[in-house]
Amino acid sequence: MSQHFDLLVIGGGSGGLATARRAARHGARTAVVEYDRLGGTCVNRGCVPKKIMWYAAALGHALDDSSDYGFDLTVGGHDWSTLVDAREAYIERLNGIYARNLAADGVEHIVGRAEFVDDRTIAVDGEHYRADHFVIAVGGEPLVPAITGAELGVTSDGFFELRERPPRVAVVGAGYIAVEIAGMLRGLGSDVTLTLRRDSVLRDFDADLQQVLMETLAAEGIQIATGFTPQRLERADDGLRLVPTEGSARDEFDAVIWAIGRRPKTANLGLERAGVTVDDRGYIPVDAWQNTNVGHIHALGDVCGQAELTPVAIAAGRHLAERLYGGRADARLDYENIPSVVFSHPPLGTVGLTEAKARATHGDDAVRVYRTRFTPMYHALTAHKTPTVMKLVCLGAEERVVGCHLFGHSVDEMLQGFAVAVRMGATKADFDATVAIHPTSAEELVTLSG
Ligand code: FAD
Ligand code: NDP
Repeated sequence: MSQHFDLLVIGGGSGGLATARRAARHGARTAVVEYDRLGGTCVNRGCVPKKIMWYAAALGHALDDSSDYGFDLTVGGHDWSTLVDAREAYIERLNGIYARNLAADGVEHIVGRAEFVDDRTIAVDGEHYRADHFVIAVGGEPLVPAITGAELGVTSDGFFELRERPPRVAVVGAGYIAVEIAGMLRGLGSDVTLTLRRDSVLRDFDADLQQVLMETLAAEGIQIATGFTPQRLERADDGLRLVPTEGSARDEFDAVIWAIGRRPKTANLGLERAGVTVDDRGYIPVDAWQNTNVGHIHALGDVCGQAELTPVAIAAGRHLAERLYGGRADARLDYENIPSVVFSHPPLGTVGLTEAKARATHGDDAVRVYRTRFTPMYHALTAHKTPTVMKLVCLGAEERVVGCHLFGHSVDEMLQGFAVAVRMGATKADFDATVAIHPTSAEELVTLSG
């Protein structure tokens, strides 16, 4: 006989775990199905290992600057395997914490791969489980280009498995992951080539951020190949050779990393048996309440393809659990004004409308932009310098701040508070009326003049 639950969650990643724990706390009989390590992409092969590598690369940059501050250091080198071992041990501790948290909240953990049998039943390793509600939070996986020799390269998953730092690397792609991996490897000493099929990285971001990031990547010694569409990857005498559809090949690399986007893990989920529709890329369309086209089956996180970020998956899951079991009929995530940071060196952060989007939506006359570019005080003593760029996009006569775009030291930590202000509808006058904190870079955001 099959077991019955109030809620069955497929996927023990950011969104699934958050949903299950919140539902269980409200008394729902809940289980999470997960075949892999608990924590999902973020913990095991995403945000967490990435941020550890980012800190390591940032330390590399700080060590380079340290003699300008009077330190007499001789850095003997960097031991990649020490870093990777410590990182993996940390992740293992997190996996354990996630398991204990589930148990503490009374969520059952079913180990295995789930697939729908019908719209009320899933099968996991031959066992059937039924529920009143289902949440699909199966996340995604990296894309590999459909070209000859693609298997010679690795994706971000493979990057985190590297046991040695590749000295010569090509990173193919133009999004978050390409920029972050290129920066980490460069910061730790690799020769990095970043290949873009168009002319810029992060083309959905504000143009000023794209420009300063492109400049900085080049200044940090990353070779950028624009208009480069890979046609094949092949073995050469001294490594891997990446051949484009037009122009000359780039060689020779010890590793080629595909960072060209991700796809949802919906292929073998039996969604057709449950009647759940997917779009032409396999993503599950949902309404504002995370409902799929089948009323009692919900979906959230990366599998929906909207703002693929950990806090988004978590927030969507918690709101859904509040709505289903917490008596909050109106609980749902507002997808407007979601802040996000790209962990480049230095980092880049953004919330709200880009200048281009604001102008296209509201017209040129309604938009006023404030921007500044400066060298942060940290670099007053250093020979090597990176710029800071800050930009506010304001709307209407009251100059409501509808976009805040930052690049530079510490903007990753700075953006969260400004995102609160943007969400609350702060105006440029509110920013100006806030007393600055001196000496910081952040103070420039409350002292911007037109
Ligand atoms: P996931 O975390 O992917 O979890 C889905 C889980 O479902 C997985 O554990 C999977 O094994 C399981 N699963 C799949 N199919 C089945 C099945 N049939 N049965 C049972 N279980 C199944 N976001 C940020 O906010 N900040 C960052 O700095 C950041 N950095 C990133 C860096 C990288 C390299 C990557 C790849 C992503 C990064 N992200 C970051 C994005 C973030 O990791 C995702 O948005 C987040 O993990 C999505 O959560 P999720 O619950 O939707 O899916
Ligand atoms: P992205 O969607 O961010 O970027 C992928 C880019 O690769 C595309 O925008 C495209 O840029 C380029 N591309 C696509 N196909 C090809 C191709 N065939 N050849 C060459 N280039 C190609 O995907 P990522 O994989 O970088 O990241 C996935 C998501 O994970 C992100 O969108 C983000 O939501 C999340 N993430 C968040 C992080 C954070 O919060 N710090 C960090 C990492 C990931 P173009 O069209 O310009 O060529």
